[in-house]
Amino acid sequence: MSDSPDAAGAPGPGGRVEVRRSAKRRRTVSAYRDGDRTVVLLPARMTKAEEAHWVETMLARLAAKDARRPRGDEDLRRRALALSRRHLDGAARPSAVRWVTNQNGRWGSCTPLDGTIRLSHRLRELPDWVVDYVLVHELSHLLVADHSAAFWAHVNRYPLAERARGYLLGVAAAHPGLAGDADDDVAVQPEPAQRRAPARCAPRPARDAGVQLELG
Ligand SMILES: [Zn+2]
Repeated sequence: MSDSPDAAGAPGPGGRVEVRRSAKRRRTVSAYRDGDRTVVLLPARMTKAEEAHWVETMLARLAAKDARRPRGDEDLRRRALALSRRHLDGAARPSAVRWVTNQNGRWGSCTPLDGTIRLSHRLRELPDWVVDYVLVHELSHLLVADHSAAFWAHVNRYPLAERARGYLLGVAAAHPGLAGDADDDVAVQPEPAQRRAPARCAPRPARDAGVQLELG
């Protein structure tokens, strides 16, 4: 038998924690992120007390690893998937999500035809909940390409949507020419293929390398 689900932990700041025990696993514990879920793999023979200890240890290790890593495209992609799951029933499945520096007139953009989403690097300086709004906005365009009522019904499932729109309008007003509102953000044509890095277009596994420890 392979790893089997054991217990689903309480949702933490990083999302749901899933503990899996494996009879084959004897000398290692490991943990990795999978979208907004964290999976911890343990030997089958551990006691509940040992499980609690190792889950705590591995979550701390992962958190330290997250903190060391610069917020890059992988973080953005993971966040987009988590937001899609939380607010859009997972229906929006972007093929690629990335930061771009050549998008000064718009906070975000998406190309529904190939499922790509791009966020202006200027958003990196704004609060997370505002970035999340732009992600939900672009994710919703994968479901509805225009700005119709059906589109806003998706966007407004993000509880801070109205506040975030106001925040972005305020930033734009204070910095003319920085970025307007995001109402012309849907590209009809995919980007020319030569401008894309091929790896970004390929499906990528949802899990990262995670962390692993040898038991003494
Ligand atoms: Zn839009």
